[in-house]
Amino acid sequence: HEAQLLQDHKMAAIGQLAAGVAHEIRNPLGLIRNYTFIMQRSKGDKAILEEALHRINDSVEKASKVIDNLLNFSRLTDEETHPVNLKEMIEDVVELNGKLMENHHISCQLILKEIEIETCEESLKHILINLLNNAIDAMPEGGKITIALKEKKDTVQIKVIDQGYGMSEETQEKIFNPFFTTKRRGQGTGLGCYIVYNELVKLKGEIEVRSKEKVGTTVVISLTKAEGDSYEK
Ligand code: ADP
Repeated sequence: HEAQLLQDHKMAAIGQLAAGVAHEIRNPLGLIRNYTFIMQRSKGDKAILEEALHRINDSVEKASKVIDNLLNFSRLTDEETHPVNLKEMIEDVVELNGKLMENHHISCQLILKEIEIETCEESLKHILINLLNNAIDAMPEGGKITIALKEKKDTVQIKVIDQGYGMSEETQEKIFNPFFTTKRRGQGTGLGCYIVYNELVKLKGEIEVRSKEKVGTTVVISLTKAEGDSYEK
């Protein structure tokens, strides 16, 4: 019975996405079709061929990003809970992204505590990776990201603080919509925050976003600490 409910939840979440996915995949496919047509007509003009190839490459990247995200999302919805050391998990995620941050001249400050909760490790990792990637993307000129972990009564809070370009009120209202992105073509899928939100619902967690344009963004996720109570069956 519980498995069935979980399956229903999963199917509903995926169903919601279907129309969006069709659109998101059809767009790059349409572009690829147009540019191959242009290439056929290019009479070998090098500049045209290069531009077309570049666009085709962008479109392929975009389509595969959408698919990768969805596959991760659907795979993760089945996961079991177990005790997770949050400090170690955050350190893992940061280490995984170490090179990327270095390349972007971003330093990462960790303010962590030994805290263990009963949760789905892979889901939580997925959430953190998405938040960290958004923080990195928001700081093209580099800067500092702070990740802080603390306890508050029955909850634990993970804060991801960046000094990036921030968001307007209008953007903040839309970030959890599937496929909403302000990033240029090929860079964003608009699925990151949507997935974060859905994974958090599953973990019975909450999310709060505070952001100011040209100043930065703070994302706070809260999870319940009580053992066996952190997962919605
Ligand atoms: P994507 O990153 O593919 O655009 P997301 O759903 O993760 O998709 O994010 C949607 C949009 O929310 C981003 O395009 C960006 O405009 C905004 N956003 C999310 N996180 C941040 C952040 N830390 N700083 C600034 N803008 C952000």
